[in-house]
Amino acid sequence: MSYIKNIVIVGGGTSGWMTAAMLARLFKSTLNITLIESKEIGTIGVGEATIPPLQIFNSVLGINESDFIKATQATFKLGIQFENWGKQGDCYMHAFGNVGKDLGFTPFHHYWLSTSPTETNSFWHYSLNFQAAKKQKFQVIGQLPNAPLAGLTHAYHFDAALYAQLLRSYSERQKC
Ligand SMILES: Cc1cc2nc3c(=O)[nH]c(=O)nc-3n(C[C@H](O)[C@H](O)[C@H](O)COP(=O)(O)OP(=O)(O)OC[C@H]3O[C@@H](n4cnc5c(N)ncnc54)[C@H](O)[C@@H]3O)c2cc1C
Repeated sequence: MSYIKNIVIVGGGTSGWMTAAMLARLFKSTLNITLIESKEIGTIGVGEATIPPLQIFNSVLGINESDFIKATQATFKLGIQFENWGKQGDCYMHAFGNVGKDLGFTPFHHYWLSTSPTETNSFWHYSLNFQAAKKQKFQVIGQLPNAPLAGLTHAYHFDAALYAQLLRSYSERQKC
């Protein structure tokens, strides 16, 4: 049986270096990983908006959050707000994280739907992320103290080119 031994990744943007970093982290002893990047063909330099699973990605790599924030000029993000959503003047925020508290096997939204939602009883009323974002508050808090409720769930905005650079240094350090 033949196994894959050599991987070539073409492109040194965030996709390329994220792939290289994770493969190097998990398979550096069994794979030869080569990344080809070009000085002539530019990277699209954008501010990357992410969702919370990026935290898992960084933690599998063992990248410390403070180091990541400094290196990529990241800011914290609690949700995504859509202006003029549905109609002009409307505003909808999709906040990250848990909403309310599940009741046994019943997810919270089923319970909420059975309670005749009103303005003051909106779904987002039960989202800590939504409430904190609206008040522009933030703290890294995984669990609310003395309550069976999750804390805040965050993601980041950061400079994609700086993230690629961080992952390039990380990947190069993984060489056996
Ligand atoms: C305005 C804008 C906003 C965006 N906002 C977001 C966002 O908020 N969140 C999000 O997830 N995504 C966003 N995107 C998409 C974003 O571009 C990608 O998520 C990500 O940055 C792309 O990474 P990439 O590695 O695929 O591409 P790039 O970062 O462009 O990297 C491609 C790399 O391939 C190299 N390359 C190309 N051809 C060759 C070749 N023949 N040989 C060698 N190297 C080659 C280039 O040099 C470059 O380094 C946005 C895009 C734009 C344009």
